[in-house]
Amino acid sequence: MADHVLVTGGAGYIGSHACKVLKAAGFVPVAFDNLSTGWSEAVRYGPLAQGDLMDRASIDAAFAQYKPVAVMHFAALSLVGVSMKDPGTYWRVNVNGSLNLIEATVAAGCRNFVFSSTCATYGDQDGVILDEDTPQRPINAYGASKRAIEEMLANFGAAYDLNHVIFRYFNVAGADPDGEIGEQHEPETHLIPLMLEAIEGKRPALTVFGTDYDTPDGTCIRDYVHVMDLAEAHVLGLKHLLAGKGNGVYCLGTGKGFSVREVIEQSRVVTNREVPVVMGDRRAGDAVALVSGSARAVRELGWQPTRSTLPTMITDAWRWSQAHPFKE
Ligand code: UDP
Repeated sequence: MADHVLVTGGAGYIGSHACKVLKAAGFVPVAFDNLSTGWSEAVRYGPLAQGDLMDRASIDAAFAQYKPVAVMHFAALSLVGVSMKDPGTYWRVNVNGSLNLIEATVAAGCRNFVFSSTCATYGDQDGVILDEDTPQRPINAYGASKRAIEEMLANFGAAYDLNHVIFRYFNVAGADPDGEIGEQHEPETHLIPLMLEAIEGKRPALTVFGTDYDTPDGTCIRDYVHVMDLAEAHVLGLKHLLAGKGNGVYCLGTGKGFSVREVIEQSRVVTNREVPVVMGDRRAGDAVALVSGSARAVRELGWQPTRSTLPTMITDAWRWSQAHPFKE
């Protein structure tokens, strides 16, 4: 029988794409999700185990039923701006939920754990291209909570031989090129889907958060990675663990950043439509520039991103945005 993998947040944007790639690789992805921000319509590649990371019994029940060989942990609150206004909820849900999950994993005798971390653990780094050895100095509660979970994994790894791979990435974009799943948040806060909705007339305009940053065009710079490339990296990380190759931390980026204005311009080109834009104030917690290399993931995991160019990501996201939102 095929090995099961427990995918927390498996009904969400990145988790559902990971489930698709896991299934293609011969695993059975079990989507563990409370459906607070995920969509049952996105659970297409294996069973849904509806539960909540704040409810330890529901995690134990999923382990007992499916006996997964590994966990992929995506479920989290992940909005930088909200985390600055409501840090308590971010610390409580992300850290306590992850602690429950990690303890349940160890108690069930499962020893393989892939964790979805973030370049937001780095904070502002003054223009350097981030790598795994860059010191982590988060400037928002979201990044701080994710760094705490990384430390938790190091401690549990040492105490219980919990093998773990940590991926740090930031701006995930695009959608399944087959059009089965894609990005949909309610409310939506991310740059590319918001912009596409503005282009479609579903919202009045995109507000650019800050035009006075110390960057060539005054707007923030981010490194965008295609969600399918990211999902592939997670499966490579899983195989690395199952082959007994040990723990690892990997940054996943393209090494090239794009400003908000550059993303807007590329969206105009891809969609061949004007982008309604208004200029606004900075958003609290935003780093000026976050760009990451991925040399270690390429070297040690054999990661080969194929879709992480801005035109491809926007084309895939545009197809999804027009055709297949789960709910109107
Ligand atoms: N951004 C923006 N307007 C929006 C949403 C985002 O100008 O309505 C900017 C944001 O300040 C950041 C970049 O776009 O510089 C990416 O933001 P997003 O929320 O997509 O991802 P994050 O970098 O916060 O993970």
